[in-house]
Order: sequence, then C-alpha cells, then structure tokens
Amino acid sequence: MNREQLIHTDGAVPSIFFPPGKPRKGGTCEFSTRKCRSRCPSDCQSTNVERGVLKLFKETPASELVVRLYDELLDGGKLFLQWFAWGDCPRSMTEKIVFLMLELKKKGVVQCGFTRNRPLWNKVCGAIRLALTVEKMSQVEALCAVGVVAVPNYKTGCVSIYRSLHTKTAHKLKHPYSTGECGGGWVTWGETSCTDAPVEALFEQNCILCHKNQRGCFTVTPATREVFEVVDNARGELQ
Ligand code: SF4
Repeated sequence: MNREQLIHTDGAVPSIFFPPGKPRKGGTCEFSTRKCRSRCPSDCQSTNVERGVLKLFKETPASELVVRLYDELLDGGKLFLQWFAWGDCPRSMTEKIVFLMLELKKKGVVQCGFTRNRPLWNKVCGAIRLALTVEKMSQVEALCAVGVVAVPNYKTGCVSIYRSLHTKTAHKLKHPYSTGECGGGWVTWGETSCTDAPVEALFEQNCILCHKNQRGCFTVTPATREVFEVVDNARGELQ
C-alpha cells in the first residue's frame, strides 16, 4: 500500500514543506511578520500535499515519525533533510519537532533549514544547522555566536546567512560573522549582494553541495567545528 510521503524535494534536497502563512488561515508560520508574508515565495498558499504532511506530523506518534522519515530518506538515497522549505514549526509542535531533529541526528541525518521559532532554535542550534530567521541586523551579532542566523533581503530575494567567524584575526574583517547568501537560485560567499555578485561567486542553490563544500549554513568556523565535525564527517560522502 502506498503511504503518503512526508518528505518532498526542493530541487535536489529532501525537504519538509508545511503549510505557509498565518495559523488562523491554516498556515504554520506563527512567528511570521507582515513583511515576510507579503514577500513569501509560496504566496502563503498551501497545497493539499502540505496540509496532508502537517496532519500526518500531528497525528503520528513521534517515535513512528522518526522511523518513517528515516525510511523515506534511505529510499531516496540521501541522509539529508532540509526543514521548512516553507512553512514553519508552530509553538504547539516545538517539542515534537525537537525530538525528531535530535533523533534523526543520532541516526546520522545531516539537517539544515530555516525557522522563526526561537524556542525550537534554542534547543537544536547546537546540534543541527537550523538558521533562525530574524528581520533586524541588530540581532545578528549576539545570536550568531550561538548558532546560524538568517536575515532576509526583501529587495534581492536573498537571505544572508551568519555564523560567528571569530578568530584571532576576525576583528580585521568588516563583517566577522558573515558566511554567505542564499536564495533566488544561488548561494554566494560573503557579503556580496546576490544581484551584484560576480558570476564566479555564484554556486548552485543546493544544501547538499553547501554541506559537501562547507559553505553557507555549513561554513566551518572555530565556533562550529567542535560541535559539528562528528555529524558532518559521519556522512561526508553524501551526494
Ligand atoms: S515565515 Fe517563511 S514560509 Fe512563512 S510566511 Fe514568512 S517567508 Fe513565508
């Protein structure tokens, strides 16, 4: 019997898509802002598939979900999962999603993604490369010492990715915590605006390649090396 798939692909990347938009309209973006909703690539319209995935996540016991997610990843040949290609983890599901992320990590699944759910991020940001999306640059410096932080640029459609790069020489850098930009079909190094980026600075927008090449969310810094080297090296041959 065919079961409904929990995981769908975003390009080449196995991903979780939850319904986007406000909870009172059936979405999961409890921490969204008026601005992000107005510029959301999903147009805040959810599909039957996304609503079905959310229903399954809600109704299936967490231990069973871990097995199903892992089996789907094995079937697809990639132990890699991007969370919330769109949609987000609502407050009520935080503990369940934390459990899933940490159990999948134990099984060697490399994970990344975006959330605006700060309690969720606080609990998993030392274990997986989940980026906390914030609107203000003033929040970045303190947060990026803890985990990956993302700031959307609504003009370019890109998201700047930040992680502390603090080293003995970091004070010489203009932005000692920038690690790249992601979105609109490309990823770049550094602080380059996507629209102005030289062609050679553009990479394919593919989380698995960023992981393989340790860029963007997977930039290895003194702050991240110790925490992530075990899980990142565990599946170094992921394609
Ligand atoms: S939180 Fe993300 S997915 Fe949700 S409405 Fe905002 S931009 Fe779209």
